[in-house]
Amino acid sequence: MKFADLHLHTQFSDGTFTPEELAGHGARLGFAALALTDHDSVEGCARMAAACAAAGVEFIVGAELTAEHENTEVHILGYFLDTKNQTLLTEIARFQAVRQQRINEMVVRLNEVNVPLEVESVFALANCKSPGRPHVARALVKAGLVASLDEAFERFLKKNRPAWVPKAKVSALEGIDLIHQAGGLAVMAHPGLNRTDEIIPALVEAGLDGIECFHTKHSPALSERYLEIAEKFNLLVTGGSDCHGFSKGKPLIGGIKLTYEHVEKMKQAAAAKKSATTDAHR
Ligand code: AMP
Ligand code: ZN
Ligand code: FE
Ligand code: FE
Repeated sequence: MKFADLHLHTQFSDGTFTPEELAGHGARLGFAALALTDHDSVEGCARMAAACAAAGVEFIVGAELTAEHENTEVHILGYFLDTKNQTLLTEIARFQAVRQQRINEMVVRLNEVNVPLEVESVFALANCKSPGRPHVARALVKAGLVASLDEAFERFLKKNRPAWVPKAKVSALEGIDLIHQAGGLAVMAHPGLNRTDEIIPALVEAGLDGIECFHTKHSPALSERYLEIAEKFNLLVTGGSDCHGFSKGKPLIGGIKLTYEHVEKMKQAAAAKKSATTDAHR
């Protein structure tokens, strides 16, 4: 049997592994295919592709867009993206600028409650274009201002805590369009985490291609529920561990093994889309 993990993060967003380390773990665990899905970034994909090629693992380009639909946050995974697509790169740069600005605002708020964190320390630690709250949490721990990541979130970074800053997000419908125009498939990430099933029909209407039925935080019953929804709306079935390395406890890679038949179906769907677009442009 061949297996895939289609939801993985590296140091290019808030994971702790390098692409090479991640590819190494994937190969050691016997995965046939891996997708990199860093938050609002495709920056790590070139190195991940090379590392996977060296390890004999198939690589699928991906990204996880932070989006919203009617005030609910929804994460949209894009697969088989053209990483040279200019519109995609421009939009991603915009999302990353928003993330960086939010870091500045969070540090200002921390300073206002007399937590002397320096913003440069967060950017130095994040060392990527797509920083987020986990980097602020790590910087707080590193500076000895809190004892743990959990304490950082509980005291400062959680919603309605002193340093919480809302994040401006792309609309889910625009996110789906952006993925499509970059030649990709758009997949709703971990629907069981957000419990936002009521928005699924609108996303399907906008062209959603798939739904992440298998995820570390989905119970067997939840996976079953989303398999039924996938069937009902004729959506592709995907799955992945959402491994962030050591940034949220233990590495999760290996915990979700998506059977490769689903990857085959995704590849067929992506190829059909690409040939349809080519035809339309003739
Ligand atoms: P952001 O997208 O910048 O708002 O950051 C969200 C990230 O912070 C997600 O990956 C969450 O898993 C992570 N996160 C949220 N709460 C906690 C927590 N209590 N401890 C560790 N990570 C958390
Ligand atoms: Zn993350
Ligand atoms: Fe997510
Ligand atoms: Fe994720």
